[in-house]
Amino acid sequence: MSEINRAVKGTGDVLPSDSYKWQFVEGKMLETARLFGFNEIRIPVFEHTEVFLRSVGDTTDVVQKEMYTFDDKGGRSITLRPEFTAGVIRSAIEKGLVNGALPVKAAYVGGCYRYEKPQAGRLREFHQFGVECIGAAEPNADAEVIALAGQVLDSVGIEKISLEINSIGCPECRKDYVAALKEYFKSHIDELCDTCKDRLERNPMRILDCKSPVCSEIAKGAPVVTDYLCDDCREHFGEVQKHLTAAGIKFTVNPHIVRGLDYYTRTVFEFVSGDIGAQSTVCGGGRYDGLISQMGGPQVPSLGFAMGIERIMLLLEAQGTKLPQNNSCDIYIAAMGKTASLKATQLVADLRKDGFKAQTDICGRGLKAQMKYADKIGAAFSIVLGDNEIESGKAVLKNMKNGDKWEIDLNNLSDSLFKALNSSALDELADSVLKQQ
Ligand code: ATP
Ligand code: MG
Repeated sequence: MSEINRAVKGTGDVLPSDSYKWQFVEGKMLETARLFGFNEIRIPVFEHTEVFLRSVGDTTDVVQKEMYTFDDKGGRSITLRPEFTAGVIRSAIEKGLVNGALPVKAAYVGGCYRYEKPQAGRLREFHQFGVECIGAAEPNADAEVIALAGQVLDSVGIEKISLEINSIGCPECRKDYVAALKEYFKSHIDELCDTCKDRLERNPMRILDCKSPVCSEIAKGAPVVTDYLCDDCREHFGEVQKHLTAAGIKFTVNPHIVRGLDYYTRTVFEFVSGDIGAQSTVCGGGRYDGLISQMGGPQVPSLGFAMGIERIMLLLEAQGTKLPQNNSCDIYIAAMGKTASLKATQLVADLRKDGFKAQTDICGRGLKAQMKYADKIGAAFSIVLGDNEIESGKAVLKNMKNGDKWEIDLNNLSDSLFKALNSSALDELADSVLKQQ
């Protein structure tokens, strides 16, 4: 296939027949976020490159290897967002939200771009849902944001997933820890990958997050950050755990979680699944108390998380979860001949204004082919219009599922369809109740 017929490596399409799954999942996510007071923010797909350099950090994989960066025609260095936090914070500072009523609670959903090696659960264009809670320092804020992530996963139907949390401390406790890490990794310097050799001096914590099998094996024996927490950070972490327990949330402390972005402080967490192979982290997040000031705003402690929607889809598929699909057609009007086709045009126009999903033939097909198509698109009901129906003003409404038929008045089509749809919904409900008994 030539390039013109092929999506770019690492990108995908969601087809009309599948988009209901995405609409359901994204809808649930935003709806759950609103329960916690988070409303949607929409930000540009691209930012000045500096926005990501300053926030994500120049020794991270994302900045060192993965960003889609280019000069636009005005000579600006532009980067497609590899994640949302940086852009949301840029916006919150620029629009003055960080100086207004705190906390600011924002949720987002959309595409992210990273030049990675495509594989199951790892794409170059992927989609994230996430939130930022700006201006809340208390440990119950951490618990609330984690609870939100958990409830979001629950609301879309994820069944088995575990929460792992850690604290990576503040810049104060980081000093001793980083020194200990340097010492440890120095004794393994010959085995480290080239990127990590460079990280050893500049940012040894990043080595803990390296994906190379050799580096990650060495990292397993490294000192753990929880042994180096200052009193304040230790107390904060303890309180977070108490609030999680109060909210009824199960978790384990995993002292090896450090997260791949530089801006995190104190609490970090991941939701991990054993059911989708190597790309097992579905959601990652944490606190970033220094980020806003680092980006030129005031000192405003904040936190957030992001989850990968493709990985959630994989997990739902692995679980065999069927997502609810609304029927895509309430009524199909088959028409025989030119006059009937004109009448059908009038009827579907009226039905659609009344809020029904109505379709008729627009391909000039014969009756049999029209009915076959109605079946294929899953039309709930159909009618056939010919000369007789037009003359008499009456037609037969057919339930496509069980074949039931009855005569209706074409002048009252919306009313008849409304009743028919309701009674068939009631029948289905009764059926499912009977089956459960
Ligand atoms: P990983 O360790 O798998 O590379 P990450 O630490 O880079 O993930 P984050 O930057 O924290 O991930 O992004 C949050 C979530 O976004 C991840 O947990 C994952 O679900 C999803 N995600 C990240 N990168 C990709 C990708 N290339 N393709 C699909 N989903 C992704
Ligand atoms: Mg990554």
